[in-house]
Amino acid sequence: MEVQFCCCKSGNTDDNCCGPYLGGQAIPDTPERLMRSRYAAFFHGNIDYLIATSDPDNRQANDRQMLADTCKHTQWLGLEIIKTDDSQLDQGNGFVEFVAFYERKEMGQLHENSRFVYKEGRWYYCDGQILAPVVWGRNQPCWCKSGKKYKKCHGKS
Ligand SMILES: [Zn+2]
Ligand SMILES: [Zn+2]
Repeated sequence: MEVQFCCCKSGNTDDNCCGPYLGGQAIPDTPERLMRSRYAAFFHGNIDYLIATSDPDNRQANDRQMLADTCKHTQWLGLEIIKTDDSQLDQGNGFVEFVAFYERKEMGQLHENSRFVYKEGRWYYCDGQILAPVVWGRNQPCWCKSGKKYKKCHGKS
């Protein structure tokens, strides 16, 4: 059987990364793991997981429809964690800044500083601040982790 690497691009196999979270066998114990697993849920169109891991006090009535629309029209291409801020973990707050790359008619990115809250034994996604797009250097390794330089991969014009 072929080894299945996790779609969140951690470099780990699915079984050792987001797979058990999406499958309900484990609960992410850090904001970053939750962030990765939510990216994987977007990738796989796992709406139930996205709703289950969003802050119960911050859910909107039309979440399911919005998430379904997003999943249907978006192909996720890569995830880069820029920074995790664990300085407020003891107060039940965690922050993860990330860039998620996608294709929706054309290529785009979501650069966000997400806030996660800890409630009754688990982390939830609360909300996020959208940040200006990151500029990816032409000679940097491509964010899709192909091993090629950006200019020879997704940066090819
Ligand atoms: Zn993963
Ligand atoms: Zn690429």
